[in-house]
Amino acid sequence: MQKFNKNMKLKITKEILRLRFNQMAINDSMNPNIIDGKGCLICSTNSYNVLISYNKPDQYEIACGLGAEGYSRRWVECSQCGFIYSLYSRNKNIFGKLYETIYKDSNSYWRKESGDELFQKIINLPDSESETKYRVKWIKDNIRQLQKSQIIDTVTSPHNLLDIGGGSGVFAYEFKDDLWSPYVVDPDARGVFMEKYGIKFIKSCYQPNLFSVKFDLVSLIYVLEHLENPKVMMHDLHDDMEQGALLYIEVPDSICFQYKDQQDDIFNSCHLWMFNPYTLSELLHKTGFELVALQRVKTVRNYYGLMVLAIRR
Ligand SMILES: [Zn+2]
Repeated sequence: MQKFNKNMKLKITKEILRLRFNQMAINDSMNPNIIDGKGCLICSTNSYNVLISYNKPDQYEIACGLGAEGYSRRWVECSQCGFIYSLYSRNKNIFGKLYETIYKDSNSYWRKESGDELFQKIINLPDSESETKYRVKWIKDNIRQLQKSQIIDTVTSPHNLLDIGGGSGVFAYEFKDDLWSPYVVDPDARGVFMEKYGIKFIKSCYQPNLFSVKFDLVSLIYVLEHLENPKVMMHDLHDDMEQGALLYIEVPDSICFQYKDQQDDIFNSCHLWMFNPYTLSELLHKTGFELVALQRVKTVRNYYGLMVLAIRR
C-alpha cells in the first residue's frame, strides 16, 4: 500500500511537471522567431531560412518532462550572415536542468563510474584514440609556432590554464606539464577528485575572478554551443585574462549539416548554435578577441569540430 502511494505520488508530480513545461512551451511558442528580440547573435538580422524542423521533443527534452503538445524546434540559417542557430518552443527556464543534469549525465563521462574511475580509463587510452591528446598537441604546437613567428608573445612562467566546464579533468591533466598549471571550473561537484592530480578545481558555473590568478590560456571545449548567451561569457573572460592571453575554443562545425543525418545527435536540443569558420571568427571579433589559428577536424568519434585559438585584445 505504501509503495503504491509512493508510485502514485511520483506519477502525479511527473504529470504536474509535464503540464507546467507544456504550458511554458506554449507561452513561449507564441513568439518563437526572435531570440530575446535581438535576432541573429552575430549580425542581429531577424530573417532566416529553416534548415531542419522537428515537431516532437528529443530524448533530452522528454527526460526533462517536455511533451509534444505545442512543441516546435528548428535549425535556421541567418539570411544575412549564414549563422546557424536553434529556435525552440520550450521555455528557457528548463534549459539549465536539461543541460546540467540530463544531457551531461546521459552523454558523457559519468554514468555509473565515479569521476576518478572514468578519468583513469580515458587518460589510459592509446594516443590514436584520444581526442584530448590530439587537442593538447594541436594547441601546444600552434602556441610554439606563433611564438616562434613573434605573432604572440612568449608567456612568462608560470603559465596558468583555465578549463571551463572541464569536469572530467582529462584535458587539464593532459595539458599539465612543467610550464602549465591547470585550473578547472565546473558546476558538477564530482570534479573535486582532480585535486589529487594537482589540478585546482572550483565547483561553480563560470564567473570571472573565481581564482586569484590571471590566465594565459582559457579553454572552452564543447561549451559555447550550450550557452544561452555566448557573448556574455566571452566578455566576462576579459576580466580573467590580460591583453595578449590566449583563448581556445572547440565547437561542433556546422559542416555537419552537409554530412550528417537529420536525426544525428549533433542536432540535439541541447545545442543552440552551430558555427562555421566565418561566424566563429565574427563572434570572436565582436567580443574582443582575434583569431590566430583554426582547424576543421573530424574526430575519432566521427564528430565534425572547429578548433580555434584566439588572442584577447
Ligand atoms: Zn546573422
